[in-house]
Amino acid sequence: MNFRIGQGFDTHQWVAQRPLILGGITIPHTLGLLGHSDADVLVHAIMDALLGAAGMGDIGLHFPDRDPTFKGADSCQLLSHVVTLLANTGWKIVNVDATVICERPRLAPHVPAMREKLAPLLGITRQEINIKATTTEQLGFTGRNEGAAAMAIALLTDNRPSL
Ligand code: MG
Repeated sequence: MNFRIGQGFDTHQWVAQRPLILGGITIPHTLGLLGHSDADVLVHAIMDALLGAAGMGDIGLHFPDRDPTFKGADSCQLLSHVVTLLANTGWKIVNVDATVICERPRLAPHVPAMREKLAPLLGITRQEINIKATTTEQLGFTGRNEGAAAMAIALLTDNRPSL
């Protein structure tokens, strides 16, 4: 079996009058994230980790933010497209681990719902998609509530015997 590892990172700015969508879940909050799509910073980081592991570039390549097709796009639909691309090239996801970084809101209560939502899209179990949330102790752009960030790492395998 062959294995490939990939990492992803993304950031979006907090703004008023946008829903907050993280890990495919709408979370009640006074602010949302600004972006061409639904700005789901967690799903964007996961997609980049998957594409990186497969050596298939990044989400900017597959879903250009100048393309009106992706305006307001549901990032979970884009994630499903990425998972299909991987499957079509023989890759299976082993596991994904991700961290969302923001000062507010508190995300821990929403993590189980995010895992429940993302596991079937990724074709893995809830135990194989881990999501963590942290603050930066009021330091930096996340600490000043200017934006949220997310990091993800993904492991892929194929079912071919290694040579
Ligand atoms: Mg993004």
